[in-house]
This record gives sequence, structure tokens and C-alpha cells, in this order.
Amino acid sequence: MAKYRGAKCKICRREGSKLFLKGERCYSDKCSFEKKPYSPGAHGKDRKRITEYRIQLREKQKTKSMYGMLEKQFRLFYHRADMKKGATGENLLKMLECRLDNVVYSLGFATSRSEARQLVNHRHFAVNGVTTDIPSFVVRTGDVISIRDKSKSKKKFKEVIEEAGERLAIPSWLELDKKEMKGTVVRLPEREEIATEIKENLIVELYSK
Ligand code: SF4
Repeated sequence: MAKYRGAKCKICRREGSKLFLKGERCYSDKCSFEKKPYSPGAHGKDRKRITEYRIQLREKQKTKSMYGMLEKQFRLFYHRADMKKGATGENLLKMLECRLDNVVYSLGFATSRSEARQLVNHRHFAVNGVTTDIPSFVVRTGDVISIRDKSKSKKKFKEVIEEAGERLAIPSWLELDKKEMKGTVVRLPEREEIATEIKENLIVELYSK
């Protein structure tokens, strides 16, 4: 599966905000954005010409990077969001939040979305008891996401479960059962529960051109 292989910290610096793409490092004083809060490259500190298109494009790029998606898949999600009833931008954000890799991250089973994506790819998770290795799988109300029995004994999961809920608060639309190493989608998220600074209206404006 295609994925971005460049330096992740450069994305944060280019987008001008912390996107928490590297797990533990993002919470430490090693964070590159904290040390160099300007765009990468020789002209990183130069003032850029701000156009409406540029603002919309950067918002879309930031959102894509945050959820670890490439253009084709992101656009597909956008089209699916557009087909649904209600505001397209809000639908899009809710769908992104309900991606399996994001849910695994939000439950605290991984320290970043990219790690969550890798763990899902490596078949460590099941949805409603069925092994699921598709990070873009969109969960629904009532779905139970669990660490597979074969993976439960791994040191990595024991450690990460121990800290689950401490690094990031578990969103109220998810319920974590640390003992059983599983989480339940109690309901779908509301827009205000999605803890991001994304301005989804800018993405809609960009794609509507
Ligand atoms: Fe972004 Fe994390 Fe790198 Fe900081 S450490 S710049 S938050 S990816």
C-alpha cells in the first residue's frame, strides 16, 4: 500500500502546527516543531504570499497528513462524505475519525496514527471478533475493536495498554476496557468532540472549485 516515506517532522513544520505524527517524540522536548517552528528549507523563514487557494490547499494537506492518507484515498473519502446527508465537511471529519487506524490510536493502543496503521496492517486487531487488516475500515456504532488473542501477550501491547488514556484522553464516543484489551464504539462522534483544529469548510471550498 502506498504511503508517504519522507521526514514526518517536516510536514508539521510546513503546515505550521504539531500534527503528532511520531508518537513519543511528539510529547518530548525533541519535537522538531518546538525547536524550529518555521517551514523547512533554505527559505523556510521567508514570508509566503498568502492566497485563498494556498490557505485552502494547506488545510487539506494538513488534514491528509494528520490522518496519514494520500490524495487518492482522501478524495475518495471526500466523495463518500459528499454523498451523505448533512454538511460535507462535517461528514468528512466524522468518517476520518471513524477510520480503524484512528480508533486504535484514540483508544491508546498505539502512540501515533502511523503506528496504529502498521499494527492494523500486521493483523493485531479484530473488529467484532473478525481479524481486520484494513486501516481505512470505517467503524460503526456498537463495533468492538479488540487486540487479537495471539497478540495480547506481546510486551508492546501490555506497555501501551498500561498507559492508555494517560497520553491522550479517550474520547467520550469510545469506551476502553483495559482488562479485556478492547474498545467499543458507543456512538458516532459529534463535530465538537473531534479534537482537531481543522477548518473543514476550507477543504470543501477547495474540492468544490
Ligand atoms: Fe510533528 Fe511529532 Fe515531529 Fe513534533 S515530533 S514535529 S509533533 S511529528
